[in-house]
Amino acid sequence: MLPPSIHDMELDLVDGLRVPQLLDQGTCYTYDDIIFHPGYINFAADEVKLGTNVTKNIAIRTPIVSSPMDTVTESNMAIAMAKLGGIGFLHYNSKIEEQVFHARCVKKHRADFLTDPLILQPSSTLFEFDQIRERSKHTFACICEADCIGSKLLGLVTATDHELLKDRSLELGSVMTSVCDLVTAELMEDSESFEKVLIESKKGKLPILNDSGELIAVVTGSTLKKKLINPSPGVPSTDRSGKLLCGAAIGTRESDRERAIALAEAGVDAIILDSSQGDSVYQLEMLQYLKKVIPEVDIIAGNVVTQVQAAHLIKAGADSLRVGMGSGSICTTQEVCAVGRGQATAVFKVANLASKCNIPVIADGGIQNSGHIVKALALGASAVMCGSMFAGTTEAPGEYFFQDGVRLKKYRGMGSLEAMLKGSDSRYLSSSAHLKIAQGVSGTVKDKGSVLRMVPYLTHAVKQGFQDLGANSLEKANILRNSGDMRVETRTNSAQLEGGVHDLHSYSKQLW
Ligand code: 5GP
Repeated sequence: MLPPSIHDMELDLVDGLRVPQLLDQGTCYTYDDIIFHPGYINFAADEVKLGTNVTKNIAIRTPIVSSPMDTVTESNMAIAMAKLGGIGFLHYNSKIEEQVFHARCVKKHRADFLTDPLILQPSSTLFEFDQIRERSKHTFACICEADCIGSKLLGLVTATDHELLKDRSLELGSVMTSVCDLVTAELMEDSESFEKVLIESKKGKLPILNDSGELIAVVTGSTLKKKLINPSPGVPSTDRSGKLLCGAAIGTRESDRERAIALAEAGVDAIILDSSQGDSVYQLEMLQYLKKVIPEVDIIAGNVVTQVQAAHLIKAGADSLRVGMGSGSICTTQEVCAVGRGQATAVFKVANLASKCNIPVIADGGIQNSGHIVKALALGASAVMCGSMFAGTTEAPGEYFFQDGVRLKKYRGMGSLEAMLKGSDSRYLSSSAHLKIAQGVSGTVKDKGSVLRMVPYLTHAVKQGFQDLGANSLEKANILRNSGDMRVETRTNSAQLEGGVHDLHSYSKQLW
């Protein structure tokens, strides 16, 4: 049944405020300050689609990305984030070679799918195929227009196609099962659905194609068996050639131009221009330079919190914007510099402008729980970026240690004195100053286990939040917000206390 629209109802039944009504008043709000009214549910939480664009040209299945911080994202985290359907951004508080090394590790990593199947052209013969099979593990061949993954799939040659053929001089194009007779799947389908296709069709191989019919990977009975023993997090984020997506950050110094080019050569898909205040001549110049020399890499500019800042960067060619100033858990910018904005207001205002230009917005910083992710996405963000949430996981850089009997990992702001002494000061434009002014702190976070366990919990909780809002996708949330059907209110301090656990003598909080 269709949900009733607010415009069909008695006006006196409608309460709360439209999102712009609340967030355009001149008071800035954080995620905890606001609360949404429930919407109308006519779908299951599992049906909610969280697929999104993290940049103009990069689609991801999970709207969660990891922050380019030296205690959050190196290759282990970036690999895990891409496997989970998101993307990780490598930090640049290291030499260019080290960052490039991590980018190459991500790009070399083989996801749970078969991303290096044998690819031959239709003119290859059965004899050539036999020879390759003799000296390799390959049992079947994908027949493509060119002999590399990412080219158009024409068909498959499996044992049933060739085993009984005596004439080994036959060309593979004449013996293959053509793509129109194959069962194939698209990348954005969730993993369960193509597993089902594979089982129901009784096929041993399921090619995964992009919307141009180009081969990305193959799911086989044996990859599926491996997965059943060791459950995988679903469809990974991959580039057109089936390699895991990888992002990386750079600064806006002259030397960062060389870094960007080296990262592009290593295959990174997106580059973040990392500044706490992105509306600067340095960022505009870097943006224009990169768009000229590496147009194949999407550039995420920022950070911004106002529409004016956003407009400058969009005009200069940004493919995505990172939003947040002073909202991070380790951040002291608002205290030290007196600039910034409450994150809920910043995300709404910037996303409102950026959506008119089809530029995605990443809500960066201040995410403490799945409710904050729901709020950021419902306010118009295309994805959220997490630092503290992922610091302390197995995949974050650094060793665990014990303090007062608690297992911890270090987590530090890139503007903390400690990190700046290692080189991250360009983010805060303070490299030439003799006196370094910290805009962040250095601390610790508890052991949180693996992101491979945490993110599936977060995404499911976000799906439940979207179900409660009555939105079965991010696009639907945008429609509800723009039509005024999404209603919002602020919460008093006592309402916030009431919204948390209260009045218990003791309790334990196990989230999954
Ligand atoms: P969190 O997820 O921990 O709340 O915030 C992470 C975000 O804080 C990062 O993605 C980055 O934008 C921002 N950030 C990281 N280090 C610092 C810092 O030292 N100072 C400030 N002002 N922001 C930081």
